Amino acid sequence: MTVQLTNTQTRDVEALLHPYTNAVTHRATGAHVIERGEGVYVYDDQGNRFLEGMAGLWCCGLGFGDEELIEVAQAQMAKLPYYHLFGGRSHEPAIELAEKIKDLAPGMSRVFYQSSGSEANETQIKLAWYYNNAMGRPDKKKIISRVKGYHGVSIVSASLTGLPYNHKGFDLPVDRIHHTSTPHYFRGAHEGETELEFSTRLAHELEQMILAEGPDTVAAFIAEPVMGAGGVIVPPSGYFEAIGPVLAKYDILCIADEVICGFGRTGEWFGSQRLGMQPTSMSMAKQLTGGYVPLSAVAINADMASVIEGYSGEIGTLGHGFTYGGHPLGCAVGSAAIDIMRRRDIPAHVRSLEGEFQRRLRTYSDNPLVGEARGVGLLGALELTPGGRGTFDPVGKVGAFMAAELLKNGVILRAAGDSIVFCPPMTITADEVEELFAPIENCLNATL
Ligand code: PLP
Repeated sequence: MTVQLTNTQTRDVEALLHPYTNAVTHRATGAHVIERGEGVYVYDDQGNRFLEGMAGLWCCGLGFGDEELIEVAQAQMAKLPYYHLFGGRSHEPAIELAEKIKDLAPGMSRVFYQSSGSEANETQIKLAWYYNNAMGRPDKKKIISRVKGYHGVSIVSASLTGLPYNHKGFDLPVDRIHHTSTPHYFRGAHEGETELEFSTRLAHELEQMILAEGPDTVAAFIAEPVMGAGGVIVPPSGYFEAIGPVLAKYDILCIADEVICGFGRTGEWFGSQRLGMQPTSMSMAKQLTGGYVPLSAVAINADMASVIEGYSGEIGTLGHGFTYGGHPLGCAVGSAAIDIMRRRDIPAHVRSLEGEFQRRLRTYSDNPLVGEARGVGLLGALELTPGGRGTFDPVGKVGAFMAAELLKNGVILRAAGDSIVFCPPMTITADEVEELFAPIENCLNATL
């Protein structure tokens, strides 16, 4: 359908190449132009208000327009708008934020900054390789991630990502990266298999992959505690508890990609704590600054830190780092965001809303379009099965249609493959949760 584009929409299509967008249909339908945000709401340039059920891209956990974050950003801009951490330089916001991350993240000893989640995961893989070179294990370089995992879009992080559209057309994945099965009980469990049995089977499959590749060639396993962009896939009980010992047995690093799950989203500070994952390092981004400023971080445990620090001494330098990694604005805002999350006890707030949020989601389980309703904390998904329960919607059209219906009803949610995913600002109130769910039933019925 071609519509008459507004002046702004015309300028948009003439000037921008949009990520994750079909440029041909976009040219016909035009952009949805968002102008401002306040609390859990955003407003478009036509004055329409939307409840932002995805916190932007899973990142604005403190909502929009937080005065304290704005003031801190303004003050930091005026005081020191840029500095770096190269060659031993430092600045107070970077140190302060790293201390706060260490306080919150169990077992983490050093913090290394970047600007995006992709850069954090790219850094993780380089550090895993560097670590194994330092350990005299030059062949231990392969990385295992998971089908449907999402870890970013740079060459290595997109290769870690286990979604076809991140590989298609880009000649990815690169070698040394292998994907093991998704812990998706609804789709992957055998008839009659319990969650624990499914978890044990997946851990066994992982071990078989490690043995087939050769344990001396496998450096790391990377996983989101709860898969986000793959469709909010909550692992079955006992999953990470079964995976952990396999990794330990073959001396394989365990990387928790906390880019979505970090900072309260699952009701604990980190998703790995909630889901029983014991990482040797963690990637953080998005909610680290409430999404207000691009900043990401890799936190590593004491063993990795001492090996990497020692090796940098031996070979002369740690030859990795980005111009904007540890940007003072991001660090100052990140530090303030952690203060706010602590003061408001965001993990406790998430837990206090979790029961109702998850109950509401599951009320749609009986809708003929819903195959599974699932989630944890303030993360959720409705997996849509247009042809009936056992079916798939591989092109994800039904999700996109449902998202469009929701938009007409003042709610922004995203389609992740065949699921509609939920990730509202964590500051959401009980009444706003009601408002978020209010149009769902009608939109499901309109989508059918
Ligand atoms: N890791 C996870 C779990 C993510 O969800 C994302 C982005 O959605 C990334 C990494 C990549 O982050 P970025 O888009 O900032 O590169």
